[in-house]
Amino acid sequence: MSFRCIPATKDPVATLAYNPWTLAIEPFQVSPQTWYVAGQTWVGCYLIDTGDGLILIDTAIPESLYLLVNSITSLGYSPKDIKKILISHAHFDHCGGARAMKELTGAELYMSKEDTEFMEQCPEETVVLDPDSHPQMFTVDRYYSEDEPITLGNITIHTVLTPGHTIGCTSFFWTETNPVTGAEYKIAMHGGVGANTMNDGYYAASRYLTPALRERFLADAEKMKAIPVDIALPSHPNQIEITDRAGTYSHANQPYLDSTVWADFIEERVRQVKALMDK
Ligand SMILES: [Zn+2]
Repeated sequence: MSFRCIPATKDPVATLAYNPWTLAIEPFQVSPQTWYVAGQTWVGCYLIDTGDGLILIDTAIPESLYLLVNSITSLGYSPKDIKKILISHAHFDHCGGARAMKELTGAELYMSKEDTEFMEQCPEETVVLDPDSHPQMFTVDRYYSEDEPITLGNITIHTVLTPGHTIGCTSFFWTETNPVTGAEYKIAMHGGVGANTMNDGYYAASRYLTPALRERFLADAEKMKAIPVDIALPSHPNQIEITDRAGTYSHANQPYLDSTVWADFIEERVRQVKALMDK
């Protein structure tokens, strides 16, 4: 199925805090070794089974941690087998549950140096953004390096600094092999593309982010689009619709395999940023 985005979730934090069942979703497989385990449809969290331990990408918010943990255990995995937690960027909806997940799992926690400094200097623009959420400050164990991919088991994740949505937003690229056909799939999750932080009103109020980040996002877009990606995963499921095929995965079926989605997704985000600039 080709690229499709859907409207953003309305009042997501209050909904997750007070009516979570309306956003709840069972874990579902998206590629040979990766599952969507957020337990809710607002913010994506992914679990990669490397064959020698688990990698978790993003944690969502404290109010939905039980949905995340329940998704992981219902797949038959133990949170203790999570060895690395990768945070895409320092906004509370992706890292709000980071401290709790680090304590629960004992995993090494990764975030970019740029976003770690942003978080430390501006908690009000990163982790403390919504009165209905109660994020905890956390310490980062390792910064990303584009020269040093993150390897666990048979998975190697290459990170790319993709500033724009935040200053240290980081995107993830890795390869998985179909155990039935032997086909290799290039998989990617962009670290953050929300135009909500790439408009003049946001920059006027921010203590830290400047329009230079928007310029960088737009300047990088062609380079990002050119990266070959067979399975594109969203950091928010509305940005690339994937929940419509939840539960349909099989190694033979590959419901998310479409090498056109990634470039179309980047193109759509560029269009949204430019539309805000024209306002
Ligand atoms: Zn964000």
